[in-house]
Amino acid sequence: MRYRVPKRDYEFVLREVMDIEQLTQYPDYEEVTWETLQMITDQVAEIAEDIWFPSNQVGDRVGAKFRDGEVTLPPEFHDAVNAFRDTGLVTLFAHPEYGGMGFPTAFEVMCDEMMCATNMALATMTGLVKGAYRCIHQYGSEELKALYLPKMVKGKWSGTMCLTEAHCGTDLGLLRTKAVEQEDGSYHLNGEKIFITGGEHDLTENILHLVLARLPDAPKGVKGISLFLVPKFIPTGDGNLGERNSIRALSIEEKMGCKGSPTCVIALEEAQGWLIGEPNRGLRAMFSMMNHERLGVAMEGVGVGEVAYQNGLAYALDRLQGRDLKGARYPEQEADPLIVHPDIRRMLLRSKSLIEGMRCLTVWTGMSIDRSLKDPDEATREANGELVELLTPIVKALCTDLGCEIANDMLQVYGGHGYIREHGMEQLVRDLRIAPIWEGTNGIQALDLAGRKLPRDMGRLLRRFFHPALEFVEAHRDDPDLGEFVEPFAKGLRGLQKTSMFLAQKGLGNPHEIGAGATDYLRQFGLVALGYMWLQMLKVAFAKRGDEEFYEYKLVTGRYFFERVFPETISRAVAISAGAKTMMAMPDAGFTGGYRFSGS
Ligand SMILES: Cc1cc2nc3c(=O)[nH]c(=O)nc-3n(C[C@H](O)[C@H](O)[C@H](O)COP(=O)(O)OP(=O)(O)OC[C@H]3O[C@@H](n4cnc5c(N)ncnc54)[C@H](O)[C@@H]3O)c2cc1C
Repeated sequence: MRYRVPKRDYEFVLREVMDIEQLTQYPDYEEVTWETLQMITDQVAEIAEDIWFPSNQVGDRVGAKFRDGEVTLPPEFHDAVNAFRDTGLVTLFAHPEYGGMGFPTAFEVMCDEMMCATNMALATMTGLVKGAYRCIHQYGSEELKALYLPKMVKGKWSGTMCLTEAHCGTDLGLLRTKAVEQEDGSYHLNGEKIFITGGEHDLTENILHLVLARLPDAPKGVKGISLFLVPKFIPTGDGNLGERNSIRALSIEEKMGCKGSPTCVIALEEAQGWLIGEPNRGLRAMFSMMNHERLGVAMEGVGVGEVAYQNGLAYALDRLQGRDLKGARYPEQEADPLIVHPDIRRMLLRSKSLIEGMRCLTVWTGMSIDRSLKDPDEATREANGELVELLTPIVKALCTDLGCEIANDMLQVYGGHGYIREHGMEQLVRDLRIAPIWEGTNGIQALDLAGRKLPRDMGRLLRRFFHPALEFVEAHRDDPDLGEFVEPFAKGLRGLQKTSMFLAQKGLGNPHEIGAGATDYLRQFGLVALGYMWLQMLKVAFAKRGDEEFYEYKLVTGRYFFERVFPETISRAVAISAGAKTMMAMPDAGFTGGYRFSGS
């Protein structure tokens, strides 16, 4: 396996297309010059390529080991985490008052891509630390923040998110774990959580579990859930490790991929915890960091997609099979390389055009998060915040679904050699398969988009995307270069406006219409959003063509996207317009086709 950080493309997206240096206008980001970002990118890239990447296959082969309640990870994982910690990179995105450097999200996205590409199993665990940090930072009391956050920033203490229970995954209203207040103001928690990523391991000296539980008098359903911080070791007042808390791993799951990340069953037996945020408002606190978390999961799709693409490409250039349909391209060789075949080029170009589009879309989302937090103008903060709310389910589901499609296609480029273990392609497919499931399944992301974000305030969130996209179309319709691409984009955008109207109207009288169209709608929206990103990339590429071959290649890739990928927006629109009728007309018994299932 090979991987090189695509630094030229990072520069193109971050600097030339998105102009990340605009962010230096905000006092908190004054130091975020391109030179600084480049220097840090080089550092992160070195660790990712030289230390994280070699540990990835070890994680899959050796995996996490469970024995007597303890989980051990391979030494290569310790080296990878230590390298990250020693260079101080853990501190990049934390707040300066807790020892962090406070870098913007738009740049965090790129760092996440490198880590996910080189070791997704480990990246999910380090990603959780950031999530837990953000949650404690936003909702924790000053005492909790002072006690816990500096250790997290130093990379000494890690974090988990404990939501899922055996009978409750998507439907958190069913949650049963109990919390009872004690005289000293802390709580005792009892219950069992499953599927907890990083729930036990030996990478850090302490693990801080963020646990959802119910207070005795809590209302039923999601309105009765509170959030607690339950440390593995209870710190003494001066921040040293104290007593072992009674929260323990009972076992770890055997699973399809990401084997280097332990997925634990966790038991709480009178475990001591502290309330985060207000009683019964735990879900709000937990979901407060979702925009960040879901963007982080999107980077799993982009990162693993990128490494799969790099290897698919290398194999296509190297492997000799068959001849160019128009006659031997390399007659001196026994056969031509795979890359001469149109079907192989189809898979490579589809992947390349999607990865580059997704990279741009995720950086745009990151920039919008940064503006929503730092802009001095309230209206600008609000507008960007609304755009982020709209884009979050789209980037999470689109990038993870497309990442899986790309990994599959790149395995296909290898033929049977992709299916066997030797080349590592099958690991990429297995590892990434969890991404459309966790952090809210992609089906739930689609419902969030179509059922909540679409109708909000008569389409207010939608307009945060439609308005700039329409303005771009108007401004560039007659552009001699871009016109070729603006026309199909404008048609796709109109199609999206129509399906939005269709779902909004039909959904009012029949919620099944929303449920039936949601996944197609999210894909249609996602592809239109990628189209908007491609227009911006093409604009820069046209302006700079001639400077460097890189820009010529961008133009071809963008053209491929509009010719062969973007038209999927049409088939999705047609599917949505069919509505829910046929889908719901089939009686449940009809699905069995005459076979009997026990219990049916
Ligand atoms: C490897 C791994 C690591 C994980 N890490 C964590 C972790 O760290 N912390 C944690 O708390 N959890 C974790 N999870 C749990 C994960 O978030 C859940 O698996 C996920 O939320 C789905 O829940 P479920 O598996 O119970 O599926 P279910 O909720 O039973 O859903 C099954 C299917 O039905 C669909 N569905 C469910 N409800 C609806 C609905 N109302 N409308 C339409 N479709 C619906 C879903 O989209 C899904 O396709 C992890 C899971 C795995 C496998």
